[in-house]
Formats: sequence, C-alpha cells, structure tokens
Amino acid sequence: MNNETIIIGGGPAGSAAAILLAKQGMPVRLLERQTGPHHKVCGEFISYEAAHYLQALGVDLPALGAEPIRQVRFYNGEQQLAFRLPFTAWSLSRRVLDAALLKQAEMAGVVVELGAAVTQLSRTGSGWELIRRSQSTSTDDGSVLSAKTIFLATGKHELRGWPRQVDRNVNAKVAINTRADLKNTGMGHNQFIGFKMHFRSDSSLQDQWQKAVEIHLFDDGYAGLEPIEQGGVNLCFLIGQNTYKTCGSNWPAVLDWLGRRSSHLQQSLANLTPCWSEPLAVAGIPYGYINPPNNAQPGLFRLGDQAAVIPSFAGDGIAIALHTAALAAQIHRAGGDSSLYQYQACEALTPPVRNAKRLADILASSVGRNTAFRLGLLLPSLLRKKLLQELFLRTRVFSPIPLNFA
Ligand SMILES: Cc1cc2nc3c(=O)[nH]c(=O)nc-3n(C[C@H](O)[C@H](O)[C@H](O)COP(=O)(O)OP(=O)(O)OC[C@H]3O[C@@H](n4cnc5c(N)ncnc54)[C@H](O)[C@@H]3O)c2cc1C
Repeated sequence: MNNETIIIGGGPAGSAAAILLAKQGMPVRLLERQTGPHHKVCGEFISYEAAHYLQALGVDLPALGAEPIRQVRFYNGEQQLAFRLPFTAWSLSRRVLDAALLKQAEMAGVVVELGAAVTQLSRTGSGWELIRRSQSTSTDDGSVLSAKTIFLATGKHELRGWPRQVDRNVNAKVAINTRADLKNTGMGHNQFIGFKMHFRSDSSLQDQWQKAVEIHLFDDGYAGLEPIEQGGVNLCFLIGQNTYKTCGSNWPAVLDWLGRRSSHLQQSLANLTPCWSEPLAVAGIPYGYINPPNNAQPGLFRLGDQAAVIPSFAGDGIAIALHTAALAAQIHRAGGDSSLYQYQACEALTPPVRNAKRLADILASSVGRNTAFRLGLLLPSLLRKKLLQELFLRTRVFSPIPLNFA
C-alpha cells in the first residue's frame, strides 16, 4: 500500500492540509480537477482566524494585494448599523488566494496534479483506491491510485458514493434532520442561489470601499460588497430560487431587483462597471451542516465544507477550511484516526455554525431584522459597538491551532 496521503480538492482546506503534512516530512499527493487558477463564488472576506493560518502557511496577504478590512456596515433598507472589527480582516479574490496556497503546497514538496478529477473512491482492505480522470482528455486514464489515508476536501461538492451524513443529535441543532433538509436550508425552504461578480470602481468612489465591507440584508437573502486587489470590488449575494425566477432568471433583472433593496446599494451598483458578462453562480449550499462524529470511516478525513458549512454572511468558511486542515494534519501526523478528528472538529465547529445559522434565520425575516435594527439603533454607540462585536465573535471558529513545523 502506497504510503502517500492523497488529498482530493485543492481549495483552502486541501492545500493547507497538504502543506502542513509535507512540511512535516510526509509524502502527499493533491488532486484538483480544475486545470489552473479560477474564480469561485465567495464573499472573499478573510477573517482574522483565516489570516492567522495563512500567514503561518507562508501566504503573504499584503504582498498579494489583499485589502485590509477594519469596518463592517450592515444595511436594512435605508437603516445602517456600523461597527469596527475587533481585529483587521482582509479581502483578496479566491482566484489569487487559492493559487497562492497551491504554490506553497508545491514548494513544500507536495505532488500537485491539476486537471485531475477523482471519479471514484472505494475502500479496499485497510486502505483506499481511487480513479482519477484527466480533465484535458475527459476520460478515465485508467490509473488507479491507492493510499492508506484520504483527505476529502472537495468543498460543497459531494464525491459520488460519499455523500454527507446526517445525524439527528448533531444536525438537529441547526434544524437539519434528513438529507433532504440539506437541500432546503434557506428561509421557508426556498433554496438559495449564490452569485458573484467582480466590478471596477469609479475612482471618485474609491474612498467608499476603503477598509470596509458592506452587508445589505433583505427578505430572502443578503448581498456583500467589499474591495479586492487592484482597485476591484466584489459583489457576492444570496437570493432565493423563487426571487431568481421572479426576475425571469435574468442577470440584469436580478441586479435591478437588488438595487431596489436600498438606495445606497442602488447608487453603489450604478457606479460600478462589471468585469465579466455573466456572474458566477452556485446553488444547493448545505448551510448549517456539521459532519457528525460517529460515522467516521477509518483513514478518511473530511475537511473544509465537507466538515461544516457556516452561513456565508459570517465570512468564516475559509477559516473553517484552514482550521479543519490544521486539526486533521495534526491528528494524522500523530497517528490518530479520523474518528478522533471528526469528534474534535464537531466540538469546535458546532457553536459558531449554530450561532451563525440562528442569526441568519433571524436576519432573513423582516420582523427579526427590523427588531434587531431598531434595538441596535436605540443603544448608546459604545454599547452597540460592544454588542455587535460580541455577536460577530460568536460566529467565529475557535482558538487557532499553533502550527509547528519542527
Ligand atoms: C455565497 C458564498 C459566500 C461566501 N463568502 C465567504 C467569505 O466571504 N469568507 C469566507 O471565509 N468564506 C466564504 N464562503 C465560504 C467559502 O467559500 C468556503 O467555505 C471555502 O471555499 C471552503 O473551502 P474548501 O477548501 O473546503 O472548498 P473549496 O474552496 O470549494 O475547494 C474545493 C476544491 O475541490 C475541487 N474538487 C471538487 N470535486 C473534486 C473532485 N471530484 N476531484 C478533484 N477535485 C475536486 C474543486 O475544484 C475545488 O477547487 C462563502 C460561500 C458562499 C457560497
């Protein structure tokens, strides 16, 4: 049996785990189905926790052009609640971030195969076998790989034959009781669609985007706007499928609908120039999912979005990806198995995911949102700031794991 650990997926979770194992002298192969740098639907907010891990992994955010973020501004129609972050966060496009992590993995000695999609994974004796398909030829190239340990880091996507597991004791805390619930985690069972578009900003408005993220809340979703590298602005938003259909499934009509949520958003959108003709889109996001600890397969570690999916407005998905990578690498290196990893990951991830899901559900209803804003605006500013910071911190993962490469 090959001694390599095989990592399936080259997003933040897969790349970070690969770097950590390789730096500790372990042989690692990473298979990523995309052939090169690519965009992903994401708000591109890099939280403090994520930045901590990225720095330790050798990713220099300022050198890559990341923008520092110090303030969050929430909007409910014409109402605004702003607060200063208790730390500096960052913003960088996923195309640049994910490529930088893959480069670090290669430099650490990981065998990185791009354009290699895993089509089958099966248990054999005490290990695993997988088949990979080359994306350039679109055929199974017949090469079966085997390994004792697999890190499954395919993100939101489920690998055929290895679906997410649901356990009432764990998942019921965020109102997921069956696999069908995973597809219906939006308000009123109206499944969300996530969109992303990069814009160029009018130079006269550059100040508006300096060091701040804007989150516009409305019935049926939210929209986030934040600066990214090279003077760009990222718009990422979620809307229900019904809203999308009401807009005739048409991008200009969706943008128009979005602008009508608040005059501020409308004005911002009017002064931004889209970089692409069509947005990126993703559906079927299993918000609130946490991989239960009791279904562990020996030698199979589920990382990142395979371990937990936090509501995206919390901006902590990348941190969860990096945290699970660090935890899995640490436990695997020490000879521990996936059952220990899944138990510890579930313990660490349940509080932030549950808190973020509750908050998301409150903010997605007009009654909840109006009440929260009314109360927030009534509070004296110092108390409001403290309260918002506290709420924000409760949707964060944990105390970061120190990374030790000795
Ligand atoms: C609308 C939206 C907004 C978000 N905003 C933020 C935000 O602002 N900040 C934040 O921190 N998080 C945000 N997130 C969450 C964040 O994007 C994810 O949590 C994070 O990308 C998870 O990382 P990952 O490595 O687990 O998966 P991914 O980044 O999805 O990477 C998985 C990789 O696996 C590859 N892959 C998949 N299947 C196969 C296969 N069969 N074979 C080989 N390779 C495969 C894919 O090509 C991909 O590169 C947002 C999510 C959404 C949906």
